Amino acid sequence: MFLPVSMEEVKKLGWDYIDVIIVTGDAYIDSPFSGTAVIGKYLLKHGFRVAVISQPDTESDKDITIFGEPRLFWGINAGCVDSLIANYTATGKPRKMCDFTPNGINNKRPDRALIVYTGLIRRFYKNTKPILLGGIEASLRRIAHYDFKTDKVRRSILFDSKADYIIYGMGELPVLEFANALKNNENVKNIKGLCYISKELCDNTVILPHYEEVLQDKKLFHKMFKLFSDNSQAHSAKTLVQKTGDRYLIQNPPVYYNDDILDEISDIEFERAVHPKIEGKVKALETIKTSVISHRGCFGGCSFCAIAVHQGRQVISRSISSIEKEVNSIVNMKGFNGIISDIGGPTGNMYMMKCKKMEKSGACNHKRCLYPEVCNGMNTDHKPLLNLLEKIRSIKGIKKVFVTSGIRADLAVHDKINGKKYIEAIAKNHVSGQLKMAPESADEKVLKAMKKPDNKSFLEFCRIYKEYSRKFHKNQFISCYFIAAHPEESEQKAFNTHNFIEKYLDFSPEQVQIFTPAPSTWSTCAYYTGLDEEGKDIYIEKHLNRKEKYKEIIMGKGKIHKNYKRK
Ligand code: SF4
Repeated sequence: MFLPVSMEEVKKLGWDYIDVIIVTGDAYIDSPFSGTAVIGKYLLKHGFRVAVISQPDTESDKDITIFGEPRLFWGINAGCVDSLIANYTATGKPRKMCDFTPNGINNKRPDRALIVYTGLIRRFYKNTKPILLGGIEASLRRIAHYDFKTDKVRRSILFDSKADYIIYGMGELPVLEFANALKNNENVKNIKGLCYISKELCDNTVILPHYEEVLQDKKLFHKMFKLFSDNSQAHSAKTLVQKTGDRYLIQNPPVYYNDDILDEISDIEFERAVHPKIEGKVKALETIKTSVISHRGCFGGCSFCAIAVHQGRQVISRSISSIEKEVNSIVNMKGFNGIISDIGGPTGNMYMMKCKKMEKSGACNHKRCLYPEVCNGMNTDHKPLLNLLEKIRSIKGIKKVFVTSGIRADLAVHDKINGKKYIEAIAKNHVSGQLKMAPESADEKVLKAMKKPDNKSFLEFCRIYKEYSRKFHKNQFISCYFIAAHPEESEQKAFNTHNFIEKYLDFSPEQVQIFTPAPSTWSTCAYYTGLDEEGKDIYIEKHLNRKEKYKEIIMGKGKIHKNYKRK
């Protein structure tokens, strides 16, 4: 079933009240890839009545009042992407298209959607039920953060939005606890994964530099971000406090999830379709309609990525039987063509990978798992993933299983027992013409700033992959992603990346993106403060034209390139 989006559906369900109303910046797709659907359906599974208001009109009450007020709380998310990243390019130009909006026209999600939607609710319901923010925008803007659009540090979005709470990270467990607590008139303030505003300081906390201090002092901003990052793992994190004006933002420690909990959460049926009342094609559905999530979390630790502070460094994986059940339900979908578009998570090949130390006491704060090389503590065995892929391939009704989540070459090459077999399986069975890889850069110093290893293992992966592709007579390519103008990149370093591409890769990169300083990543901290993770000065390119130029250099385009070649 779909969650209701109209009173007509609510009546059909025989509901005379709604517990939770979710307001979202995306079109409502009932899919395991949509936070709205996952949280809504998870609450529904546990007996709560949930309705959805998707991409409401923000100028009138015509959408926001359709259900009246909820019995327990409002849940707001900006959509699958931070609204400013969804609405603007890395160089600040408005984006015309949106994959999460019907017909692709990007005109339905306001900038700073959480602030706008909270204001919309408060405009029509003055003293309403609690307003809870969630999703990626809330998660990454939960403490003071650098805001690329205004080139300023902003305070926690909880202050700016005038909402009551944030649930950050993976929301299923804390949102359920929150709903139960409200239903039973219990205190919600001890719920893990929750942020709230307090007039008083509480005990046993880590005090972050005040908002007003980090606004003035970049070194204090850097210190704040380090404390924030060090306290983002469920095993070891403390409660964080940030004074803002005369009040305090309190961030409770993150929630702990494990493989069994992920199986329980994943045991929900989805329609894998856009709600029928929403008119127009929603492009995102094409990518996710027959894709399957095998795991969450990432221990990659790339500086430009916020996954670790959102999903955590610990990878949690579903059992094969849980995934098999989901694939069988896809097979039974009307019109299914036998193709699973992807099985993966934030990365294509971290399924079931564990580190004993991380399992027991959380990830190391002062050490990366994959940088400068793969840590021996990490079990990089690809056998469980090979078993999973084999099992899914063998399901009746499945013709092809593709892997389109990005693959970490270093992990595959590090696994001396099953790594080669994995690359063989990928080349033989799991590529639909193009394999996606993300070297991101080829300049040694830029890679260091990204906390990515050098490209030796990437080249080794490509060599083995091509060998197997030839063996199986497959005419298939590797598509590479690069980032231009990342902290530390200069004109010469962009050329270094281009030269690497020319020397080692037999294609020109189509996918070069200019670095976007998304909130709450180490790269963004560097971009704003001019300091790398270790607190040393780092080169930052802020000039828009030069950022574009670096992109052209990497792609091998533009006048500058011809001049350079001539030289
Ligand atoms: S021991 Fe190694 S793999 Fe384990 S958490 Fe620490 S850095 Fe990561």
